[in-house]
Amino acid sequence: MTLGGGSLALVVGTAPATLIPDRLAVSAVEFLRTADPKHVRACPLDEGGCGWLFLDRSRNSSRRWCAMEDCGAQAKARRLTARRRVARATP
Ligand SMILES: [Zn+2]
Repeated sequence: MTLGGGSLALVVGTAPATLIPDRLAVSAVEFLRTADPKHVRACPLDEGGCGWLFLDRSRNSSRRWCAMEDCGAQAKARRLTARRRVARATP
């Protein structure tokens, strides 16, 4: 990683021929440089999430999952199964 001229550049590889910026690393640096730390959240592992970081851009900062259609849907399905199990066990 090099700093200079007010910009940040990340170069992956040591031989001149391989000085190709790695897109994922560049994206990560760009994310860290521009993201508001107040909106960076982790998908909750203890509630069945994946633990990935995501940017919560919801109006009231209430987003819980990295993606509702992925981790959020799985968590909802697990809660429903648990409720049904309790309902069946209760005479
Ligand atoms: Zn997730």
